[in-house]
Amino acid sequence: MSAWPNWRAGWRDVRLAPRIVGISVALLLLVQAVVFVFVRAGIETQAQAEIAKELATGERVWRRLLEQNAARLQQGAQLLASDYGFRTAVASGDRETAQSALENHGERIGSVLSAFFDARGTLVAHSPFPAWSLAPAQATATLQAVAQGLADPARTSALAFLGRTPYQFVLVPVRAPLVIGWVLMSFPIDQALADDLYRLFAVHVAVVGEVPGQPPAVIVGAGAAQPAHRQAALAALPPGQSALALDGERYLARAFRLESLNGSVGTVLLRSVDEVMAPFVRLQWLLGGITALGVLLFALVNWGAMRRVTQPLRALTRAARALEQGEADVALAGTDRNDEVGRLARGFEAMRGSLARQQAEIRRMAFEDRLTELPNRARFRLALQQALDGRDAARPLAVLTLNLDRFKHINHVLGYAFGDAVLRAAAARLRETVDPPGGMLARLGGDEFCVLVPDADAAQALALAERLAAAFQAPLVLDEQTVDLSVGMGVAVWPGDGADADTLLGHAEIAMRAAKARAVGLLRYDAALDVASAQTLSLLGDLRQAIDRHELRLYLQPKIEVASGAVVAAEALVRWRHPQRGLVPPMQFIPFAEQTGFVRVLTRWMLEETARQWPVLQAACPRLRVAVNLSTRDLMDPDLAGWLDAWRRGHGIDPAAIGLEITESAIMDDPQRAEATLNRLADLGFRLAIDDFGTGYSSLAYLKRLPVQELKIDRSFVAGMERDADDATIVRSTIDLAHNLGLSVVAEGVENAAILTTLHALGCDEAQGYHIARPMPVADWDAWCRARASGSPGAPAASGTVPA
Ligand code: C2E
Ligand code: CA
Ligand code: CA
Repeated sequence: MSAWPNWRAGWRDVRLAPRIVGISVALLLLVQAVVFVFVRAGIETQAQAEIAKELATGERVWRRLLEQNAARLQQGAQLLASDYGFRTAVASGDRETAQSALENHGERIGSVLSAFFDARGTLVAHSPFPAWSLAPAQATATLQAVAQGLADPARTSALAFLGRTPYQFVLVPVRAPLVIGWVLMSFPIDQALADDLYRLFAVHVAVVGEVPGQPPAVIVGAGAAQPAHRQAALAALPPGQSALALDGERYLARAFRLESLNGSVGTVLLRSVDEVMAPFVRLQWLLGGITALGVLLFALVNWGAMRRVTQPLRALTRAARALEQGEADVALAGTDRNDEVGRLARGFEAMRGSLARQQAEIRRMAFEDRLTELPNRARFRLALQQALDGRDAARPLAVLTLNLDRFKHINHVLGYAFGDAVLRAAAARLRETVDPPGGMLARLGGDEFCVLVPDADAAQALALAERLAAAFQAPLVLDEQTVDLSVGMGVAVWPGDGADADTLLGHAEIAMRAAKARAVGLLRYDAALDVASAQTLSLLGDLRQAIDRHELRLYLQPKIEVASGAVVAAEALVRWRHPQRGLVPPMQFIPFAEQTGFVRVLTRWMLEETARQWPVLQAACPRLRVAVNLSTRDLMDPDLAGWLDAWRRGHGIDPAAIGLEITESAIMDDPQRAEATLNRLADLGFRLAIDDFGTGYSSLAYLKRLPVQELKIDRSFVAGMERDADDATIVRSTIDLAHNLGLSVVAEGVENAAILTTLHALGCDEAQGYHIARPMPVADWDAWCRARASGSPGAPAASGTVPA
């Protein structure tokens, strides 16, 4: 794995600002570096050219210096040659005078070595030889040779080595007027000369002597050429221009040769490149410093600018996170900017605003009932929880639930739109009556409302309930229709009736349902009402043994044909004689038996018991139909139909004589399965009846699909028929509709003759109720039937019957 992808991945993780600033600074540095390299190369070339020029000038100056020296020497020599005294001394052979004139004059013009030769070229006199390593004879021979070399008239001066030192010599004839001799004068190419050049032109000079038979060696060095350890390198330089380094310093050298009579005089001129470059280098340092400062400044400014961009971006990111977590109410910064970031921020702000509005709308939808605009169940639950949170037990709190009576039927008969209007009107009425400070009025769903009454004890809550009941007494007028509204209410008070919100609300609802079931309008919660209370559980345990202990009884309630008054059928109703509790009403154990499924055992017991009593029942009223109640659980039992078929065959009972009563709500629990079971039962020939019609949610149109023959109008409508016009309307229209659908109608709860008469007028088929007979034990059945047949219709319930 190469480090490259890692590096790239790492780079992608770097935040935007450092990334952009890093890239731009790197670019800037690159550009600066390229400029630096080119400028430096340019300067270097320029400097080298400059140095080369200087060295060329140096060479010219060097040659000129030598020429000038030679010219000066020549003039001096000529002066001597034309000196009368000297000429006379020479002509007269006065060696001593000539010698002293030679020395004096030579000294005056700066000649180091002066000599006089006769016309034949023989050395006659000379100034004392400098302290050489050369022997006098050798020196004399060399001088002789130099003089001969210079005798060529074309030459006026020449270089020559005397020993290891190069000298410049001039030779001038002494004429009287014929040439009577020669004056030779010279100066050495020495340190002083080199120093002159170095001082005047800052050119370092090395004079290299190249005498035949000896290796070239530096004779004189000025400036950088002075240190002895450098001289070997200088002596070895080829003629022309070359670069070299001396002790780490770079130099450009120009080497050239001056011919000498006995060898050659090399000259090396040097110029330090570094020295020439030094001001440029200083300038470059300065430039580097300025660049660094510039880059720093650039980076800072850039960084600042980037932060102006990235900070709002980061704020946006934070805001986005907050939005993600559902916090849409934090306003954004940077929306006042006019640049792209500002536009982005404004776009974001608009989005956040819309989200916040949507959230508020969702919250409203989640917590508000759209129809009545009251808080909904969830909202109520929350408020109740908050009210109970850390509440002081000394401050009670009441929950009141309220349910409209017969609302389902208002819906069915008068239509859903009308039902909605009723609910809105009910809500308005509630609002007018209830306004608990710190409390809440809510719609829990359907026709159920709820009030949270803070700081209210049971008495206060019940007083409020009374006020509510009074408020609902006035009929409601909607669309020119008058509707009588009555309500069932339940009250639960914290802390006694429930410690937490759900329990409290649940208990208030239980109390309300009990109040409705008992038609008492209002009840406060009591554990005895609670179907799931411990008492009930123990009762359920007892119920399991009730069959074995023979505590269950079969009771019968007759149904008569309204038109003729003849007893045509009976409903089988269960009774339980509990050894301790006495008679337990079916409503206290049937619902739990349904919950646990035990009701299926109960149903089969009822059928077996019916079959056992069959002969007794038929004896009094031949062709009597007997109806047995089926529960939801029975409908869901896939074995039921098979069992029933076997049962009736086993006992030789005609299925048409057996009615099966099923409540609307039992069907509605699982309409598909219920329908399947009902179809099977109908196929087997049983007579099916819809029980408690009007208390459920179904419509006649739906029930029409089911294979039922009979409709039992719930007793609450029948009993209310007399005083309530709506109930009468419902009963009437139900009878008509049922007949249109080919169904036979049974009215339950016929409690007096007037109702029976009305039902007769309405064409109701059959009637059942206390007015005809209360449910009675089988033992009483025969006597009752005979009494009735003997012409005493409406005979009171036989002895031993217990009002249900
Ligand atoms: P239900 O099926 O509607 O039975 C009719 C109920 O109305 C009976 O109550 C009966 O006593 C009562 N009743 C009859 N005439 C009148 C009247 O004129 N006025 C008034 N106020 N009431 C009248 P019961 O026997 O207490 O039964 C209550 C409910 O318990 C039944 O209502 C039924 O749903 C259930 N139940 C009773 N026995 C059985 C059973 O063997 N199996 C099942 N699954 N449920 C049963
Ligand atoms: Ca029934
Ligand atoms: Ca019923």
